[in-house]
Amino acid sequence: MRGLGHLARLINHSDTMSKLSRRSFLAASAALAAAPALGAVPASGDVDVVIVGAGAAGIAAARRVAAAGRRFALIEAADRIGGRCITDTRSFGVPFDRGAHWIHAPEINPVAKLAAQTGHEVYPAPRGQKLRIGQRNARESELEAFLAALFRSNRAIAEAALGKTDMAAARALPKDLGDWQPAVEFVLGPYTCAQELTAISARDFARAAERGSDAFCRQGYGALLAKLAENIPVQLNTPAISVEWLNRLEVETPKGKLRARTVIVTVSTGVLATGKIKFVPELPKRQLDAIGKLKLGSYDHIALELPGNPLDLAHDDLVFEKSVTARTAALLANIAGTNICTVDVAGRFGRDLAAQGEPAMAAFAAEWLADLFGANVKSAIKRTTVTRWNDEPWALGAFSAAAPGGETARKALGEPIRDRLWLAGEAVHETLWGTVGGAFESGTRAA
Ligand SMILES: Cc1cc2nc3c(=O)[nH]c(=O)nc-3n(C[C@H](O)[C@H](O)[C@H](O)COP(=O)(O)OP(=O)(O)OC[C@H]3O[C@@H](n4cnc5c(N)ncnc54)[C@H](O)[C@@H]3O)c2cc1C
Repeated sequence: MRGLGHLARLINHSDTMSKLSRRSFLAASAALAAAPALGAVPASGDVDVVIVGAGAAGIAAARRVAAAGRRFALIEAADRIGGRCITDTRSFGVPFDRGAHWIHAPEINPVAKLAAQTGHEVYPAPRGQKLRIGQRNARESELEAFLAALFRSNRAIAEAALGKTDMAAARALPKDLGDWQPAVEFVLGPYTCAQELTAISARDFARAAERGSDAFCRQGYGALLAKLAENIPVQLNTPAISVEWLNRLEVETPKGKLRARTVIVTVSTGVLATGKIKFVPELPKRQLDAIGKLKLGSYDHIALELPGNPLDLAHDDLVFEKSVTARTAALLANIAGTNICTVDVAGRFGRDLAAQGEPAMAAFAAEWLADLFGANVKSAIKRTTVTRWNDEPWALGAFSAAAPGGETARKALGEPIRDRLWLAGEAVHETLWGTVGGAFESGTRAA
């Protein structure tokens, strides 16, 4: 999953917590009807706009540029579009979102708004969540205590964000969380932001728009995004190697050079940080510093086929545990009514586990489920597949969180460079960072 929307969703589930004040979302950009394809632009030559990367931001930018009737080239390094929002139908024969799955705030989410044009089904996510304490469900009073701890922690971070200087979100946590502390730290840190709260700016955290409701797409979020790109010509297997931006604008790929009046680069901050794309001259210090402050966290799905509903859960049930250490996960059960469940691991623990490879990840998921639902679960598991986003060469991580003191980094990263080079993507969105909706909106804005 992810996104602070979950917190609002969890908290709002509890009547006693329903007074949580909500900041309004940034108005979503007006939905754009996809323009007819302009015809594939060759991978070399002159265009108005070169868009680097065909994830949510790149697709949105291309739709906008196409709608304006400009010549553009959308180049993508991988052999597929979608980036970190991709639906896999091969592993299980039913949709499994390898990256983004939760459609946050469908009422303002630009991708959700466009879904009506695609024939894809978007349905509301069930509200609330379940909490396991050992092998039993939490009692109502325990759930209330957990939600109260989350609520107080969120409010404490929001208050700290108003202070004179930025600080790590972890420093703002109430000191009396008691035995709820590990679960609170997991939900607000790794599960929501893909990083520990010690590594996250309180201001960046607090600025994230609270999203009261969520939805899912039955065909997969990645499938929905891909549908929105249907009429957009994309040059696959075409990585940008260098971007020259001072005197002339030129993007070099293995297939040739593209000259443009504007370039929009939508690759992740993980890719930007590696220098895989050589900017000539180097990007301005302001943007370089911002990239350094917007590191990608770790978030992965361990997907399991569990026929016969051995966990006895409803479709799309979200389950946490009252954890005692950081070695924990979140479960999303019976996704869209299928028998696919995901065990999500994130943050430092998720990173270390993913580095050990697929067998270690699958073994952890089986053990963790057995601890919570009984040993019989293990033998019920059929096919499994895992994601390892830190090793995906064109992502190199999950999504960005600003480091303490990095509260202005997103704004800086999104500032136009000489009015001709724009960086876009989830990392530049100041309130919807880390989401597909935020990435999509940032691409539209840049375009
Ligand atoms: C496991 C996981 C779960 C998530 N869950 C959710 C969720 O539930 N809800 C939600 O809203 N968000 C979620 N997110 C975050 C969401 O997926 C991202 O915020 C969003 O997809 C980012 O879109 P983007 O366009 O900014 O970047 P990307 O999707 O990374 O797109 C960038 C594109 O650029 C390409 N590229 C890279 N280098 C080059 C190059 N040199 N030349 C050309 N192309 C290049 C990449 O291949 C990629 O296609 C999740 C992410 C992960 C990893």
